[in-house]
Amino acid sequence: MLNMTPKEISERKAIRINPCKTCQPVGAMYAALGVHSCMPHSHGSQGCCSYHRTYLTRHFKDPAIASSSSFTEGASVFGGGSNLKTSVKNIFDIYNPDIIAVHTTCLSETIGDDLNAFIQDTPIPEGKYVVHANTPSYVGSHVTGYGNMIAGFVRYLSEHTGVSNGKTALVPGFVNPGDMREIKRIAELMNVPFTMLPDTSGVMDAPMTGKYEMYPKGGTSIPDIIGLGDCKKAIGFGEFATIEGVSALRKKCKVPYEMLELPIGIENTDAYILQLQQIGSGEVPYSLEEERGQLLDIILDSHPYYHGKTVAIYGDPDTVLGIAALTLEMGMHPKYLFTGTPGDLFQQKAKALLAKYGIEDCIAKSAADLFELHQLIKNESVDLMIGGTHGKQIALAEDIPLVRAGFPILDRYVHSYLPIVGYRGAILLVEKIANALMDRQDRDAADEDVEMIM
Ligand code: SF4
Repeated sequence: MLNMTPKEISERKAIRINPCKTCQPVGAMYAALGVHSCMPHSHGSQGCCSYHRTYLTRHFKDPAIASSSSFTEGASVFGGGSNLKTSVKNIFDIYNPDIIAVHTTCLSETIGDDLNAFIQDTPIPEGKYVVHANTPSYVGSHVTGYGNMIAGFVRYLSEHTGVSNGKTALVPGFVNPGDMREIKRIAELMNVPFTMLPDTSGVMDAPMTGKYEMYPKGGTSIPDIIGLGDCKKAIGFGEFATIEGVSALRKKCKVPYEMLELPIGIENTDAYILQLQQIGSGEVPYSLEEERGQLLDIILDSHPYYHGKTVAIYGDPDTVLGIAALTLEMGMHPKYLFTGTPGDLFQQKAKALLAKYGIEDCIAKSAADLFELHQLIKNESVDLMIGGTHGKQIALAEDIPLVRAGFPILDRYVHSYLPIVGYRGAILLVEKIANALMDRQDRDAADEDVEMIM
């Protein structure tokens, strides 16, 4: 399908092709789904909302609920204040959530709707909440929208009473419910009490019970979000996705934060565990040491199949940096690190990471698109690609094995249940990488060279 992509690279400023990101409201909707009994609400036209819901549903293979202010010509000209008022009444009357999390779209941002004023002017039933985040899609990406929505919850709800609740606020980056479960499991093993915001485990990976639950058991509770203001510390996992949230918590409630990379790979997971050790002053349990040792053993056993192999990694910035760190620990050679999310910080972090391993020829780009990645690959190919479904046609056109990891994965199943964070997540990722390259070796081998034992 992409066989006609030209090899010659020409500078493009005005267009992105296969942009390696999606719009802010997708992230805002995902963050809102990580709050218990929350209805994400798209303040714009129905088309945006349908697209965002569909995008999430296709990745998670679970329904992503959301409502819309349903702008038509009238709201576009006169503003969406009355639409929001009607929406809030109807949503509480019909769907009865505990909280509505409103995010804007390009349209409502462009006409300048003042959500603060609208919400103040909207009757909200006793004991219910409405919060909002500004998420114009011509700025940032879904990762930015995710961070903005987390900050929205904090700004509206979190309170500092002056009495510590002894907890740590865990703010995960834009990751799957399986990753959130793993981050929580590690904190539990380290005996560190915490509140995670957002927490889509138990929502976007809820079990089949035979009965549809609009608000499944999972998600951060409203009292827990309020209590974030009394946490003794916050940890953000991945700067692009979480800086807004932890900064808002520090600004409003004076909760100090530690910014970590997403705990993908050995060093990043070690950093998380050491951070928990400092907070809880507890011993690292043997079970975690055992998992770490297993990961090292697996890497040692299987390294001949991927050591020195070149890899292109694309997707969300925090995820790409984490996966790059793991591949470097495995002795692989990242050639291209691409993210569609803008921000020079990505190049800076990538450069520092690659320098630790003496790699100088890797091209790291933010605000980039997969069309350019394809052109670069046509000029100098790689042994492996790691990323989401939007790289699939490049992988097929260039006959490169593709390991699916990150967001979005629209053409496979189970990914959202399994972690790529923590030692366990790294084991799963190493298995995928090693097996993809070993499959390639099997496929390319002459009949007489096919090995039964590898
Ligand atoms: S109009 Fe904006 S918010 Fe709506 S789908 Fe398009 S980019 Fe996303």
